[in-house]
Amino acid sequence: MSLWDDIARAIGDASGTPFAPGSPGSLGGGCINSAFRLGDGVHDWFVKTNSADRLDMFEAEAAGLDALADSGTLRVPRPLCTGISGNTAFIVMQHIAFGRNGAQGWRVAGRQLAAMHRHSADAFGWSRDNTIGATPQPNAWHDDWIDFWREQRLGFQLDLAARNGHGGRLQSLGEHLLSRFAVLVDHAPRPALLHGDLWGGNLSFDTAGTPVIYDPATYYGDREAELAMTELFGGFSADFYAAYREAWPLDGGYRVRRELYNLYHVLNHLNLFGGGYAGQAERMMQTLLASC
Ligand code: ADP
Repeated sequence: MSLWDDIARAIGDASGTPFAPGSPGSLGGGCINSAFRLGDGVHDWFVKTNSADRLDMFEAEAAGLDALADSGTLRVPRPLCTGISGNTAFIVMQHIAFGRNGAQGWRVAGRQLAAMHRHSADAFGWSRDNTIGATPQPNAWHDDWIDFWREQRLGFQLDLAARNGHGGRLQSLGEHLLSRFAVLVDHAPRPALLHGDLWGGNLSFDTAGTPVIYDPATYYGDREAELAMTELFGGFSADFYAAYREAWPLDGGYRVRRELYNLYHVLNHLNLFGGGYAGQAERMMQTLLASC
């Protein structure tokens, strides 16, 4: 049996409807995986593939998509199944036809993201670990957000950076920051359901103009960490932020915390792509230390 025969059978089993697709249409690669559209003229599915050892990553992605979809807020492709064929792991989810966006779509996205963030849990973390890009992302539950951010986020990426050969100044600044940053988080965030990797490449609009989010790194955290990431690489419109703040205003001091939260993603980029991000991370840590 070929990979695509196995995937077609898995789709038939999971959907309860026999599925005999035409040839898969390559959608090129995402950041991490190969992406395809697979259809039989009636149903279209979106399929991502990677090496078999990444099955766990796809299972975590499916659980994250389900958690976000269950919130009944932003549109999210429903996952159908995951599996392995030979040396390839795959995930299958609802295929979404993307269209054009406008100011109205951005306003809906801001409002619906605020509604998603209202979904809360008893603690910070998640029921399973997942990945951020291709990097492992630990999500052990913590009652205290500052502990969570220190141990599961900044501390984890700094340790990884040390193992990747980024020592010296980055590590000494990092150590200093870990011992002091608690004073920067002087608000009391509630655990909020987060997409977790919400840069512009992970939000699009369907043909009806409805915003859609995908490729999550889900956990319960400070909602400001999500908004911070939307600002890190840009691409979100002013209408989006206005609608979010109208639905749920931010606490004072967000601008300083934004830097602290985005440091996590810059460290992750350092661990994924190397070199150039070290200087950016060090500058961010110096700015943060100056505010502590
Ligand atoms: P990766 O895990 O490799 O980063 P993504 O999940 O971001 O891949 O998907 C790659 C691209 O495929 C996205 O940028 C988006 O354009 C498109 N895409 C993602 N999910 C769907 C979907 N459910 N239906 C159709 N296209 C999708």
